[in-house]
Amino acid sequence: MTHVAVSIAVADAAELDAALQRAQAASVAGARLVEWRVDELAPQDNAGNVIGRLVTASPMPCIVTIRSETEGGLYNGDEQHRGELLAQLIQGDAPPRYIDVEWKMFRNPGVLRDQICAALDAVPEDRRPSIIASAHDFASRPGDLLQIIEQTTHDDRVDVIKLAWTARSLRDNLEVIDVLSERRKPMIALCMGPFGLMSRVLAPKFGGLLTYASDSDASATAPGQPTLMQLRNLYRFDSIGANTKVYGVIGWPIEHSQSPRVHNAGFTAIDFDGVYLPMPVPPEYEHFKATVGAMIDHDGLGFCGASVTIPHKRNLVRFVQNRAGTLDPMSERIGAANTLVADSDGGVECANTDAPSVVQSLRSTSGDNDCELRSKRAAVLGAGGVARAVVTGLIDAGADVVIFNRTAQRAQQLVDALMQSNRSDGVGRASVGEPSALRSEQFDIYVNCTSIGMEGGPMPSDSPLDVLAGRAVTVPETAVVFDTVYAPKRTVFLQQAEKAGAVVISGWDMFTRQAAMQFELWTGRELSEAR
Ligand code: NAP
Repeated sequence: MTHVAVSIAVADAAELDAALQRAQAASVAGARLVEWRVDELAPQDNAGNVIGRLVTASPMPCIVTIRSETEGGLYNGDEQHRGELLAQLIQGDAPPRYIDVEWKMFRNPGVLRDQICAALDAVPEDRRPSIIASAHDFASRPGDLLQIIEQTTHDDRVDVIKLAWTARSLRDNLEVIDVLSERRKPMIALCMGPFGLMSRVLAPKFGGLLTYASDSDASATAPGQPTLMQLRNLYRFDSIGANTKVYGVIGWPIEHSQSPRVHNAGFTAIDFDGVYLPMPVPPEYEHFKATVGAMIDHDGLGFCGASVTIPHKRNLVRFVQNRAGTLDPMSERIGAANTLVADSDGGVECANTDAPSVVQSLRSTSGDNDCELRSKRAAVLGAGGVARAVVTGLIDAGADVVIFNRTAQRAQQLVDALMQSNRSDGVGRASVGEPSALRSEQFDIYVNCTSIGMEGGPMPSDSPLDVLAGRAVTVPETAVVFDTVYAPKRTVFLQQAEKAGAVVISGWDMFTRQAAMQFELWTGRELSEAR
């Protein structure tokens, strides 16, 4: 069983009571081990007694770590002193369960190793702490990784091997999985940094001894460390096992995505053996191809699918075509997709759930039949990726769409592409509008597909209608106004439309609908069962 170890740094004797309270709270919240990081405390006077009290009063079995500056920690004392402290703990009345010491220091006969080994030999076997020999690399994968594994595996004084390095891409996680799967001794292996979350969350799938968590956002002791609540509540840590299927959201940037919350909650609700992770992949197609290809082709990962978002929606279509996979008709028409389904033989399919979700959202306001959008006049603001899906969905449903965009040429390109690929039975049409016409012309439907109004976007407090029209514009009372922006849920545009008496639809509605369609493609079940 893989435990969660909450890592708590204690810099000073004055922090002892607060640190024990934090550990107690973490234990109640599901941590099974506490790592006491006493790097800064260790060189201080009386450190032996203070650390001894910490270990004795620890509400959970503990790891004691005095990490030196040379390996990313804050301990700046000498090795003689560190050895004495650790020996004192080993021979104390209540020794810790584990002592973590850097392999770089421990591997050579010398003062640190000699003192630790002598202390271990002086206590009965059943009271001896286990030695974790750890190797860290904050730049990249250690060049001598395999050598370290070989040496630590054959060193009788090493009970647990710990390997941690900074991932430069998601692919580094796959090597962590490989070394864990081939371990011949208990092992902790993980990647640090923004690309490393997968290795930390999936430790139970591959038999890692433990994974580290912080007890709050602000207290992580290593880059990329998740919080205990994220691990257990968001990423379903306790239910991850050897057969757990792996899904994720691929994009750049991806850290603010709501998709992990939605899909993991869905998996929990239907008791589906899956986990859904953020998967950051840098923009270029080569990154997408290399990373997604490696995840699909990896034997043990169990990667079964992903949501794909900005800037990779077109890359997904290209990738699936290059692998001779299957595109759903909407992906083919739009040339962009947001859903990847991968099977265990390396086969791939992609689908676009953005376009149908827009149509569903609009129809939900006024009944449920095709005719509702037929011949309606729709103003689409913006001509980027989302606009492409929105306009396709609308013209397929028979609407008459006018696209207004800051850059007219981009709107024209969109119209040309869509009208060219439009199905012969499609009754809707698309054209380009001059933005100033928004002041005088009225539409049945307005859809914002620009990033104006989005939290963290270019103009978070503005209405895209006003910006494009060049002055404040009021929508007709009879209009349906749909903002694809979903953060915030009530944008300035929607607030103004509501004031005018229009029916409003939030981008959150589209977001949950497209997510529900993805969920169904992966699990065969409805996300609504999960709500
Ligand atoms: P995109 O391809 O980058 O397109 C951005 C659009 O916004 C372009 O039309 C751009 O006009 C316009 N724009 C940006 N800044 C502007 C400004 N200052 N003034 C006027 N126009 C401006 O982005 P996208 O992928 O289409 O995404 C657009 C929005 O859709 C996102 O903000 C996101 O919130 C939302 N979205 C929602 C969902 C959902 O499920 N609800 C899913 C995906 C995306 P130019 O062509 O002139 O640059």
